[in-house]
Amino acid sequence: MTTDFSIKLPPIAKRGDTLAQVSTPALLIELDAFEHNIACMADMARQHGVALRPHAKAHKSSVIAQKQIAAGAIGICCQKLSEAYPFVAAGISDIYISNEFVGPAKVAMAIELARHVKLSLCVDHIAQIEALGLAADAAGVVITVLVEVDIGQARCGVARMEGLATLVDGIVRHPALRFGGLQAFHGGIQHLTTWDLRRTSAAASADKVATYAQFLAARGIACPLITGGGTGTAEFDVASGVFTEIQPGSYIFMDAHYGANEWAGNKMPRHSLFIAATIMSTAKNDIAVCDVGLKGVAIDSGMPLVKQDDELKFIRANDEHGVLKIIDNPDAIARDRLGEQVLLIPGHCDPTANLYDQYVCIRNDRVEDIWDIDARGLSQ
Ligand code: PLP
Ligand code: MN
Repeated sequence: MTTDFSIKLPPIAKRGDTLAQVSTPALLIELDAFEHNIACMADMARQHGVALRPHAKAHKSSVIAQKQIAAGAIGICCQKLSEAYPFVAAGISDIYISNEFVGPAKVAMAIELARHVKLSLCVDHIAQIEALGLAADAAGVVITVLVEVDIGQARCGVARMEGLATLVDGIVRHPALRFGGLQAFHGGIQHLTTWDLRRTSAAASADKVATYAQFLAARGIACPLITGGGTGTAEFDVASGVFTEIQPGSYIFMDAHYGANEWAGNKMPRHSLFIAATIMSTAKNDIAVCDVGLKGVAIDSGMPLVKQDDELKFIRANDEHGVLKIIDNPDAIARDRLGEQVLLIPGHCDPTANLYDQYVCIRNDRVEDIWDIDARGLSQ
């Protein structure tokens, strides 16, 4: 017996390791595909003269945000105030919180962020504006505030012109607040399966936002920014003539849910996010059980796909078990796959990334780098 209780976990991977050496479950980024996705979205926005402000809730990693900015993004979106802190600490200087918040603790966080970076915020109620205006004034900071308008998502955002007018007037009244423009995001149309349906729905949404902007213009209020759009509609939003900024998130990873949709030409981002799993039980003939369950992959948008393996279908996730059915191959029963590594394509990238502390970055089947998911779990 020893009285020394210090014990250290081995790293899940080291630079230079082979993919097979990575300890599973591990969240992998295939760097070639990932870099392709970052460059393509940046090019598309640039070609249309539209600003790109990627949504960092998809990856929650300041290393990735820095790469997006190096490729031409003007800053990032965060969905939560606490989520923004690691990005501030990493030197990201322009952050937009694309989501409403309420209460003194959150307002205090917003003021703290505004002391450090160029901050913009999003509101849909006069009480949010009053609280922010008073706090910003007292702190001597100036904050840009956008108003969210509902363009069909039926979630946050004002749905009436009079409501919009009240909020914009409220912002303009406060000396410490600046009216920044309109937030307009319709998540429901991002995942429509056919390209044409996404195209027509994105056009209808853009028309709706334009109506709000025209209403403000008629009252003599300029709308400096119209921001919205995600991975599924980005190609239409940049060409809409309405959006001046887009905020896609998932495009860097391309989850299985997005990948199941129809894309035009070469516009589909490539799958770059995988979970390395190990088959750790083969006691039954027709199933293989792997070490990735609910704690390793989000299944709200469907089960993960198994990459490049027609023999296995992921059919069930328990807390720490993933059940893989052996399909279409009677010979497979004879082949014992215990110990084999399989790569899973997650159904939904955002909540999956939030389950891990690090990305293990792979090129040519070798570990090239390991990046912290430094905003993981920060949802306040
Ligand atoms: N903007 C807002 C407000 C969102 O809620 C989301 C995602 O849900 C996005 C942008 C990014 O969307 P996507 O990950 O589909 O590109
Ligand atoms: Mn998502």
